[in-house]
Amino acid sequence: MPDHVATDFREYEPPVPPTDTFDVVRSEDGRWYTVTGPCPTCRATVVFRVAYGVLGPTKRLLGRGRRAPEPLTGSIPVYCQCGYPHAERPPESPDSGCGAFWEVPVPAPGPGTST
Ligand SMILES: [Zn+2]
Ligand SMILES: [Zn+2]
Repeated sequence: MPDHVATDFREYEPPVPPTDTFDVVRSEDGRWYTVTGPCPTCRATVVFRVAYGVLGPTKRLLGRGRRAPEPLTGSIPVYCQCGYPHAERPPESPDSGCGAFWEVPVPAPGPGTST
C-alpha cells in the first residue's frame, strides 16, 4: 500500500485539503451512511459507516408515513480507521488509525426531497 503515510499517532483534527473528495452514500433504508475517502493525515482510504439513528433526532417525519428517516443534513464526524500501524498509538486506544478525525459534509439530497 504505497499511498499510506506512517505518521505518528496523534488525536487531532487536520485540515481537509479542498482537493480531497468524499463519497457519502445513504443506505436504502436511510439508516446508514457510508463515507469513503482519503484520510487527510495518512492518506489511507477510509471507509466509515455510521448509523443515522445515533446522529440526531429521527422522530420528525414529513407527514408522508415514510419509514425511513429524513435525509441527514450537516456533516458526519469521521475518524481514521486505516488499520495500519502508527507509532505512538496507545495500546488501549480503540482507534485503528492515525488518530485524525474530521467532518465530512453531507451532500444535498437528490431531487424529490426538500429540506
Ligand atoms: Zn494510517
Ligand atoms: Zn489516518
